Amino acid sequence: MYLIRVWYMDGLRELIETNRDVFDAALKFYFNDAYKLNFFQLGGMDKYIDSSGRINAKELILDPPINTGGNKHIDILLVDRDIYLPGFSYVFAVTHPPLSRIVISLFRLMRKYSLVEFEDDVVVKERLFKEIMHELGHLTGLDHCENKLCVMAFSKNLKELDSKVPYPCERCIEKLNKVSRFR
Ligand SMILES: [Zn+2]
Ligand SMILES: [Zn+2]
Repeated sequence: MYLIRVWYMDGLRELIETNRDVFDAALKFYFNDAYKLNFFQLGGMDKYIDSSGRINAKELILDPPINTGGNKHIDILLVDRDIYLPGFSYVFAVTHPPLSRIVISLFRLMRKYSLVEFEDDVVVKERLFKEIMHELGHLTGLDHCENKLCVMAFSKNLKELDSKVPYPCERCIEKLNKVSRFR
């Protein structure tokens, strides 16, 4: 039984309330029914936000403001700030498989391509589902896929994210059945 803890910044409370089904759908895909899902508020984030208002995702994922779980815990941190990594001006999400940790930023997922306006709820829901599917894929042992439609393809922008289907391609699923830590 895997214990999934979803941690969200206060500004995302409403979004999480309306998207709980998205987490279950993605978790069922990877774990069947062998998981328990709990939601927690993510506090103590001020020290991770830099002068540009963004978060260094590497710092956050290596040393998050949460108590460490046991080895059956998977932690998914949801932040409302833009996140970046060394060498990338922004990313949508990062995963650290050895630590069983995922960080997902809703900053861009909630916005239209211009980033000026907010996107419709249904679009946000689909993007969030794809991000969870993608990052859980990394967590279970999948790498990036060459197939641009596959959910495991790397997306460098929202347009590429939107053009993917929400599931791994056949080859990735085949690989998943061989390499997954969870199946
Ligand atoms: Zn990736
Ligand atoms: Zn694939």
